[in-house]
Amino acid sequence: MTSFSVPTRRRTHWVDITAPVRKAVRELGVASGAVTVFVPHTTAGITINEHADPDVATDLEGVFDRLVPWEGPYRHAEGNTAAHAKASLVGSSARVPVEDGDLRLGTWQGVFLCEFDGPRTRQVWVTP
Ligand code: ZN
Repeated sequence: MTSFSVPTRRRTHWVDITAPVRKAVRELGVASGAVTVFVPHTTAGITINEHADPDVATDLEGVFDRLVPWEGPYRHAEGNTAAHAKASLVGSSARVPVEDGDLRLGTWQGVFLCEFDGPRTRQVWVTP
């Protein structure tokens, strides 16, 4: 396994982590197969979506914020139930194919860390 840190800057912030995931694949020495990209957090997630136009990620941040309002009624005393809900909607990992030692993504696809309770520094684990 290898890992890296991702600083986030807003409460809801999708960060394109395609480049550091590519670097992790090289560090792991995976030639072909797939890697799992995973966040060990309960208020952040991992997803794959368009990264050619950064407005897509910005729009999706807004979609998730409208889908799950920050204000409840919720019971969780920490006050961040919306972030937990959004993390479960996107999921905590993505499996990405690897070919010739590099990620095999679609033309428009990138890997995103989806922050829902930032700003803070998140860990991303990459495993073969
Ligand atoms: Zn919480």
